[in-house]
Amino acid sequence: MAESEASGTVVVIDDDYVMRLTCRQILDKDGFQVETLEDGAQGLEAVARLKPDLVVVDLKMPGISGMEVISRLRELDPQVVIAVITGYASVASAVDAIKAGAYDFLPKPFTPDELRLVVARGLEHRRLMKASQQREIEREMMKRRFVTFVSHQLKTPLVAIHQYLNVLNHLDGTDGGRDKRKAWSDRCLKRADEMLQLIDDWLTLSQVEGGRLLKRRERLDLKGIITGILDSYAGSAQTNDVSLCGELPLSEYPVPGDRNCVTVLFDNLIDNAIKYNRPGGTVRVVAEVSRGEIVIDVVDTGVGISPQHHGSLFDDFFRVKGDATKDIPGSGLGLTICQRIVAEMGGRIEVESEPGVGSTFRVRLPMWRDQGQDEDNSPRSDP
Ligand code: ADP
Repeated sequence: MAESEASGTVVVIDDDYVMRLTCRQILDKDGFQVETLEDGAQGLEAVARLKPDLVVVDLKMPGISGMEVISRLRELDPQVVIAVITGYASVASAVDAIKAGAYDFLPKPFTPDELRLVVARGLEHRRLMKASQQREIEREMMKRRFVTFVSHQLKTPLVAIHQYLNVLNHLDGTDGGRDKRKAWSDRCLKRADEMLQLIDDWLTLSQVEGGRLLKRRERLDLKGIITGILDSYAGSAQTNDVSLCGELPLSEYPVPGDRNCVTVLFDNLIDNAIKYNRPGGTVRVVAEVSRGEIVIDVVDTGVGISPQHHGSLFDDFFRVKGDATKDIPGSGLGLTICQRIVAEMGGRIEVESEPGVGSTFRVRLPMWRDQGQDEDNSPRSDP
């Protein structure tokens, strides 16, 4: 191993002088920081002081036994990786040591390469443990941030509803009271709807993240699903003065996936395309097959998104703030959900958008393949 490649601190505890010297020479040469000790007591003291990545312990030593050293090492530092040196053919003691918490063993006599292999394996294990611990910490911090953020997002409309109800409570039966009451209760309903939307999106996201929505992988036809979603949005499109159309010329667009997830995905994209549109605008859903993928574009002629926001669109709770969008309700979780679903399905989602012109959200999904199907088998064309 080249000197610059090796990093890590290794403590070797062995009563045999020659063994200590040999280990030190080999590991020193490979660039490790090495400390060698001749008994368990000194070894434990060195481990407490140096906090090494790996400890190599001889099982058979006078004084504190190797097994005892292992259990004390575990108490001292539960993360330290332990490799034991065992006597020739003493498989039973190696098994006992592993049960007691050692990670690996090295039967005597061993070659320099065998020592190197055990050390490299142990340090790789240590690196993976640290990385997974770090990921766990980051996940925990993200969860906390998320909870704080959601509480804040829920509190804002709730405080508003509280104030509106107070106003309603103090309205008397004077002229205009009925109209005012209606206006204030409409505001309450609007804010309550925002809260419900946020809770719904949050639940969907946690289901997607927990893998609960993506359990099934069946053959789905996107044509049927998208056509159904477009039909269900006819009313909302009319209210927003937006025209909707699907351009799905093939008879089917089969993908492997979960029906609920795929519905949530395109529902979000089509809903956004209508919401962030302008009166007289259009939403087109265009499908094509390209290189074994099904590519679906949701194209709108709406407010568009400036390039500086493109990188944040799929972040939790991200919403573009501006005059064009300030009165449009939303949780900022829709695109996060879309991205997670697409990633779980082995696909990608991309955006092209220009402020004032419109946006295209492009979803690429792997096409369904029957077992033994040819590489260039594509779905049937309409007759
Ligand atoms: P929201 O619930 O706010 O719609 P999304 O995660 O679906 O949350 O979208 C995040 C933000 O991206 C939106 O708040 C909006 O600013 C912007 N956005 C999403 N889709 C479009 C679109 N089709 N046209 C313009 N802006 C969009």
